[in-house]
Amino acid sequence: EKTSVTLLGLGAMGTALARTWLAAGHPLTVWNRTPSRAAALAAEGAKAADSAAAAVTANTLVLVCLLDDASVDEALDGADLAGKDLVNLTTSTPAQARARAEWARERGARYLDGGIMAVPPMIGVPEAGGYVFYSGSRELFEQHQETLGTPAGTTYVGQDAGFAALYDVALLSAMYGMFAGAAHAYALIRKEDIDPTSLAPLLADWLAAMAPSVHQTAGQLRSGDYTKGVTSPLAMQVAGTQTLLSTADQQGVSPELLSPYFALMRRRLAKGTGEEDLTGVIDLLVH
Ligand code: NDP
Repeated sequence: EKTSVTLLGLGAMGTALARTWLAAGHPLTVWNRTPSRAAALAAEGAKAADSAAAAVTANTLVLVCLLDDASVDEALDGADLAGKDLVNLTTSTPAQARARAEWARERGARYLDGGIMAVPPMIGVPEAGGYVFYSGSRELFEQHQETLGTPAGTTYVGQDAGFAALYDVALLSAMYGMFAGAAHAYALIRKEDIDPTSLAPLLADWLAAMAPSVHQTAGQLRSGDYTKGVTSPLAMQVAGTQTLLSTADQQGVSPELLSPYFALMRRRLAKGTGEEDLTGVIDLLVH
């Protein structure tokens, strides 16, 4: 007997999630603000509830995947959450997630927050590697792990309801740094007779080769010794940044994506830390 699921929110992500539970044979009740989207899923076997409150009443396990935290407020206003297992997959900040956990507790529900590390086409496709960070009630997570694992992998990151959002944003933030670096790299070759598709595999392989350096950084942060295992000391790297900036200048490329990071490297070096790794930059960011 598969667990019955209620899902509020049938946007691109909610619809993708919904289809995986239907395909796996979970009885599914759905609600969406714009009813036509629920009608489409009803044709595939879901029960379409007339209101969010009615959808919540239908099942103990209630998942929410709406646009933002404010839409969660709006949708769940007036719903009876007593005894419910509320799983909120709506992207939010750690503070919003913690406040939502408290809000759910006051209404008698167990609460789990989720941060989705996937785009809709990765949902229900295990080999795509998408997963969801979960934090909050460990009991809820353990009881429903199988159901939660139907659309994508599950990674539980702690009782603090804000941690799923924090891990999610940490990974996305690092991703944007990578996008910024790749954007600069493409800009450098933009005016040359170089096919971007010939740079692409080199770029992808180089980024992949450099990615494991995050482990060394983590080890240095934990030990407090930022010189451990250093192969490219800060003093050498700061000197090298001049070549990168001069090249950007020669290629007519703005340094604005790289400059903030280089400025932090110089500020750290000014503290007399030339033998360290780049790890000290992190301490300049935290205030
Ligand atoms: P969509 O924009 O496709 O859908 C938004 C959903 O929220 C719709 O169901 C919409 O209803 C509903 N909604 C918006 N405002 C309100 C409101 N005030 N009251 C009730 N319902 C409301 O977004 P996605 O489905 O793509 O995303 C949903 C969540 O998943 C977001 O938090 C997003 O950050 C997250 N996510 C999405 C990813 C993606 O790649 N798409 C990746 C990872 C996370 P209606 O149909 O009536 O407009």
